[in-house]
Amino acid sequence: MDARTIRLRAGLSVLWRREGESQIGVDPRCAVVLENLTRGEQRVLDLLDGPDFAPTEADLTRLGHTVGVAPGRVRELLGLLDRSGVLDHGSRRTGSALGPEEAYWSRVLPGGDGAGLLAGRDHAVVRVCGLDHVGLRIATHLSEAGVGTLLLDDEHPVRRSDVGPYEPIDVGRPRAERARALLRASYPRLRTQAEPGRGPDLVVAVFAAVADPVRLVPVLREDLEHLPVVIGDVDIAVGPLVRPGRGPCTRCLDLHRTEADPAWPAVATQMRCAAPAAAARQLGQIGAVVAAHQALAAIDGREVAVEAATLEVGPLSPLPVLRQWTIHPECGCGGPDPVRAAGADAAASRSRTDPHGSASEQPASRPTAPV
Ligand SMILES: [Zn+2]
Repeated sequence: MDARTIRLRAGLSVLWRREGESQIGVDPRCAVVLENLTRGEQRVLDLLDGPDFAPTEADLTRLGHTVGVAPGRVRELLGLLDRSGVLDHGSRRTGSALGPEEAYWSRVLPGGDGAGLLAGRDHAVVRVCGLDHVGLRIATHLSEAGVGTLLLDDEHPVRRSDVGPYEPIDVGRPRAERARALLRASYPRLRTQAEPGRGPDLVVAVFAAVADPVRLVPVLREDLEHLPVVIGDVDIAVGPLVRPGRGPCTRCLDLHRTEADPAWPAVATQMRCAAPAAAARQLGQIGAVVAAHQALAAIDGREVAVEAATLEVGPLSPLPVLRQWTIHPECGCGGPDPVRAAGADAAASRSRTDPHGSASEQPASRPTAPV
């Protein structure tokens, strides 16, 4: 007889619905109802409940003998539970020994491999560029969710408006340096440097007002998957998740906006040069949660809502707005060389500093505006 222990997925319980009917779990996405059971069969199922004890098939069969359930019927019930996806084949620990993160993912993933998902996060390297209070909150969520390595980029000083996730004493000191110190203090296992030769799996780039193509050139040059987060006047736009060569990029979005409003390039350039307004607290918190949620979905290999889309969130509505985007035919980002397009953008911007150029155009060899 098989001596392996039999466990329900973490967090699932055996619930007595009525005489002859038991239920495992509650949410329809991971629950199952068993009907036409004898009282003895319900008692056998009850033995599977409990966070600290996992019976073997022999234990269940022994109980079956005492309550009138034949060994074949015990096996049949176990097969039914297995086919329903409520048994845990991934963990050798009982539910109470799992952390809440692993228990959750063991319960909801189709394969039940919460430990594998967390191992993937621990192995992941994510770069967060732009560490205002929104960027640091995103980094904090990623650390808390178990991302193993965070590379933090932002040499601008901490502003008074960043205090919240930063300490008041941090004001005036480099954001990246302070963000590393704060995150290491809360998450001692977090690594803030990658192994030599190991690039990021994902870049989360936080922008004030509009995405800045100049800041994205290194990301495009290395063909890195990236998630723009743009803090607007009213909302924060998360996405699209740019997978180089697949789906629209930030330049596609700019080209679509230019079609809708020919003045958009001039407006956008001025917004990139302007001193950024700090995002309101609640806006920053909502935006950071959504951005981290989508970043984690990408890292985990789960479905991402911002695939060729942006999620726009803000305090005015509890529901995010999902906006779909397509590759713009003039962008060329679906082709083999996305850097050329961004490089051309940067070159075009640089040409505006030409003293012989139009006086009405904005210079672009500006310092990158801090977020
Ligand atoms: Zn594009």
